[in-house]
Amino acid sequence: MRRLLLWMAGNGWLRQRIPRLPMARRAIRRFMPGEDPEAALSQAEAFRDEHIGSLFTRLGENVVRIEEADATAEHYLGLLDQIAARGIPGELSVKLTQLGLDIDADRAMRHVERLVERAADGGGVLWIDMEGSAYTERTVALYEQLRARHTNVGICLQAYLRRSAADVARLLPLDPAIRLVKGAYDEPVALAYRTRGAVSTNYAALSIELLAAIAAGRPVRLGLGTHDVALIEQLAAHATALGLGHQAFEVQMLYGIRLAEQRRLAAEGYRVSDLIAYGTAWYPWYMRRLAERPANVLFALRQIVG
Ligand SMILES: Cc1cc2nc3c(=O)[nH]c(=O)nc-3n(C[C@H](O)[C@H](O)[C@H](O)COP(=O)(O)OP(=O)(O)OC[C@H]3O[C@@H](n4cnc5c(N)ncnc54)[C@H](O)[C@@H]3O)c2cc1C
Repeated sequence: MRRLLLWMAGNGWLRQRIPRLPMARRAIRRFMPGEDPEAALSQAEAFRDEHIGSLFTRLGENVVRIEEADATAEHYLGLLDQIAARGIPGELSVKLTQLGLDIDADRAMRHVERLVERAADGGGVLWIDMEGSAYTERTVALYEQLRARHTNVGICLQAYLRRSAADVARLLPLDPAIRLVKGAYDEPVALAYRTRGAVSTNYAALSIELLAAIAAGRPVRLGLGTHDVALIEQLAAHATALGLGHQAFEVQMLYGIRLAEQRRLAAEGYRVSDLIAYGTAWYPWYMRRLAERPANVLFALRQIVG
């Protein structure tokens, strides 16, 4: 089921057609407050009152026209201004292929750098998502270049990738901001751990390494980008054993998933952010959310039928 859904996520024919179905638009509401950026900003204001920060992402990836990438960069610059003007504790999370990496890598880099600079005005980090394995090396290399010039840039690493241990070791000397996730794409066994247990074990090992750097006084920022609360609790206990407080790392979850846990962790004094997606290009992203949990397919079908 997971592999089928991930195949569907990458299928251009379906990508053209499914989003036009009104019932599919109804089903997506579980994972997005709305397609409009205003829906995301309003939701972030509500989260602010609950001491939950927000990460904004305008959905879209693998754009094929450079004008789309340019427009996305302009859109994000405007959004950063709105976040600052409205006093929202929020940061952006962007995909390099949304900013033109497939078409013109230099231009994509310039777009990211403008966003990093604008994010710095509001004191925030610009987070770079990690896409499929065809992009991993380019993303890590671009992050290295950016981090050499800016302190407020973060990268997502995927615990299912075998190479991530080496990437953590490679980036640690830069005092990086790292969001660690399990990984959402369909990767071959040569590149990725494929069982839930192996992925979680690697996730814990990588987090423990990053926590050790934090305990040693390094200005590393660690975002645990997972809804696996047992794993978060295990890592929180490890952080406590290292003498670290609740604020030493942060928890990042997606809008619509485990909100009660987000609220509980925030109330207990952990730093929590909710990643709020918006925009019309939600199809591949939504399919990855379905793939993460087969029960979501039944939920989506119920929405469609009902
Ligand atoms: C803030 C954030 C940013 C991310 N950025 C990236 C990225 O840049 N690149 C990338 O490859 N992946 C990214 N991901 C997705 C990530 O890789 C996983 O696919 C996703 O988080 C599901 O794995 P999990 O860690 O929550 O653990 P799992 O073991 O899959 O889930 C743990 C529990 O969380 C709940 N849960 C998890 N997913 C869902 C869901 N879709 N619907 C309902 N309940 C669910 C279930 O109760 C499940 O039992 C991101 C995730 C987060 C939270």
